[in-house]
Amino acid sequence: MIPLDMFGSESVAADLLEQVRWRNGVTCPRCRSDLTVKNGSYGHFQRYLCKNCDRTFNDKTGTIFAHSKVALRKWLFSIYAFLRFNTSLRQLQLEIDVQYKTIYQRVERFTKSLDAPSLNLVGPVEIDEVYVSAGLKGRERDQESRSRGLSTRGRGTYDQDKPPVFTVVDRSTGDRYVIPAKSADESTIRLLLANREKEPLTVYTDGFRAYDPLTEDDAFDREYVVHGDGEYADEDVHVNTCESHGSLLRPWLSPHRGISKDKLTQYLRAFQLRRKLLRKPGREALKHAVKATL
Ligand SMILES: [Zn+2]
Repeated sequence: MIPLDMFGSESVAADLLEQVRWRNGVTCPRCRSDLTVKNGSYGHFQRYLCKNCDRTFNDKTGTIFAHSKVALRKWLFSIYAFLRFNTSLRQLQLEIDVQYKTIYQRVERFTKSLDAPSLNLVGPVEIDEVYVSAGLKGRERDQESRSRGLSTRGRGTYDQDKPPVFTVVDRSTGDRYVIPAKSADESTIRLLLANREKEPLTVYTDGFRAYDPLTEDDAFDREYVVHGDGEYADEDVHVNTCESHGSLLRPWLSPHRGISKDKLTQYLRAFQLRRKLLRKPGREALKHAVKATL
């Protein structure tokens, strides 16, 4: 259920932020002290005075929502629609009635605030790559036809505007990760698989050469399928979950056509967050999204 009340009332939106932000108690955003007292209000937002550094702050201070003339409820709606419904920024601009630049900058701030996924692999693990077309949008306006945000199968490189995106699935935990890389090489793969709970880590891959060194390494128990070789999934040995997860990248990036490669990381973090929210009811999903930005 869409939490419509949040989007219709600034004080309900302010309550949500207050609740999520200070879930472990109020602390000063400047000096981290918890010697704070309530000190009037700032519009719909509670204001506080820090007894330690003698400065005031409010619920929005130091968050991605600070310093905006646009109502918080509109930003909450934007984040919700962006994550939940895969809404384009052009569309959001119309929905909340602000300038494109305004929505662009705030969504930018939102995606940048998201943490990198931390992998803690138990295994068996599937690993695979997809190649996403992402160029230099914004910097090379005149080259209209290059780099639309479509993901295609086939190897590419970051320099050719087709950066690889690794999909990693940990079958024991069900966790799925999408991580962009500069290139699909051995050192990148080793880095991705570095945080493992036990050794050897069972790893399923396809026949791509960059995975070959794992076969000789005692830290891994690598098995692979060769696509297009008439070889099909041998019981557990396959990367089908990676492939199906990777196939969701194309629809995710598509409304943000021509996304630039240096923005890919943050858009993929948003994609990661989107999946986490998938089964949560509207209100919980929104809380989780706000918490992820703090
Ligand atoms: Zn302070």
